[in-house]
Amino acid sequence: MLTLIQNALKFPQKTAVIDNNGVFTYKDLLDRSQEVASCLLGNANDLNQARIAFMVPPSMEYLSVQWGIWRAGGIAVPLCTTYPFPSLQYVIEDTKADILVVAPEFEKILAPYKEDQSIRFISTQDFRSLGNRELPEISTDRGAMILYTSGTTNLPKGVLTTHENIEAQISTLVEAWKWSQDDYTLSILPLHHVHGIINVNSCALWSGAVVEFLSHFDAAKVFEIFKKGHVNVFMAVPTIYFKLIAHYETLSESERSEISNCLKKFRLMVSGSAALPVSVMEKWHSISDHYLLERYGMTEIGMAISNPYTGERRAGHIGQALPGVEIRICNESDEIQSLDQPGEIQVKGPNVFKAYWGKPEATQKAFTSDGWFRTGDIAIMDVGYFKILGRDSVDIIKSGGYKISALEIEEILRTYPGVKDCGVIGIPDEEWGEIVAAAIVPTSDLHSEALNLWMRERLPAYKTPRKYLIVQDLPRNAMGKVTKNDLKKLF
Ligand code: ATP
Ligand code: MG
Repeated sequence: MLTLIQNALKFPQKTAVIDNNGVFTYKDLLDRSQEVASCLLGNANDLNQARIAFMVPPSMEYLSVQWGIWRAGGIAVPLCTTYPFPSLQYVIEDTKADILVVAPEFEKILAPYKEDQSIRFISTQDFRSLGNRELPEISTDRGAMILYTSGTTNLPKGVLTTHENIEAQISTLVEAWKWSQDDYTLSILPLHHVHGIINVNSCALWSGAVVEFLSHFDAAKVFEIFKKGHVNVFMAVPTIYFKLIAHYETLSESERSEISNCLKKFRLMVSGSAALPVSVMEKWHSISDHYLLERYGMTEIGMAISNPYTGERRAGHIGQALPGVEIRICNESDEIQSLDQPGEIQVKGPNVFKAYWGKPEATQKAFTSDGWFRTGDIAIMDVGYFKILGRDSVDIIKSGGYKISALEIEEILRTYPGVKDCGVIGIPDEEWGEIVAAAIVPTSDLHSEALNLWMRERLPAYKTPRKYLIVQDLPRNAMGKVTKNDLKKLF
């Protein structure tokens, strides 16, 4: 039996989920996912790796569908609830989905598939109890989920993971971050991505904890929920912390101290999916007394490197290898580098995905001849903690024989008072190969000349931006990551 299900059986009467529709126990989740599994199976004994795409808002119903698919032997393909039709179509067609499960509010956008004979269209309203029919035995080496990468550097790729991969990703974090049945988390992240699915929901439910859903992020609502005093674990991407800080700064003195007092009682707050600016870490600390725990991971591997649960959490660093995950740093020929040299992070372990769905060539290229996964991220070891320098493809700027980390320059730009946010890229240049360029989201008092002088005092000439562009906002994808190829087009 899948471990998530086995564990849930230990806590039948405990609260598992809270959403807009009510409070649900682990038994409710087991019962509802059994109903979903039975209806999906119909006359079959096993879904046998069929792909079931589902568009359901973050809720008890979402989890019931996800667990139902797994219990019936299918591969779960969660769809992003904010995508326009063409992006949904890309995922549905790329996975060759056999079944489409749709919550009532999304029936309209997916209506074209109602007429499609090659796909079974099921409304979540049609799931109902078919008695206690037997479900298939699922071996853990089977495919469990196809998640699409965030599409930060290219078209999103479908990442196939097995139950074994998922269980390794969950159990590693449960151990490292000390999840227990006393925990209570607020789930605010989109649920088509590893961060919300594995780190938040699955770790909580694996441990017998409570997951409360807020279907759309809203800083004021998040603080309202925090003030009730139940939530003790919270995970988000850097832009969410950025927005929470901005909202906090608009509040009155007494409201601020009420929120700060609540936050101080939290057990754990985590940031990841993109680099956490040092300034955000420091501000959050001044509000909550917590050093955010920054970790590093990918759709392909779950989480791989993390700052410690106990011990120093170092700003601008991602920490050390998680239990059960092997990490090495390699040069372009896949030779192991000494750790004080920058190189590519390569990963091995039971957490690493099986294949890019339908892309055997991309899968082959992603692994070294001795079976290590090439992340494409460049890092260096700095006093015992890994530090990310950026993605080789967009953040490592190759200029006049130097390799320059865009993230390092962004970090310095952000400390200038006139800079609210920024994104640094390399743009093609005949003489230098690439030159450093910076897009700046300004505060009301930015003077570009002064900024330029200020940067020159802090960085060697080859690292200072040669071009600045003032923008209202940075281009971002659904996970809030800056899409640097779009940024390049702006220059
Ligand atoms: P695509 O592969 O489609 O271009 P993506 O790589 O952004 O998109 P994800 O799998 O969601 O898709 O993101 C993984 C990437 O996020 C990592 O490879 C890394 O570049 C970045 N990342 C994750 N955590 C951190 C972190 N703590 N600091 C810096 N970068 C991070
Ligand atoms: Mg990627």
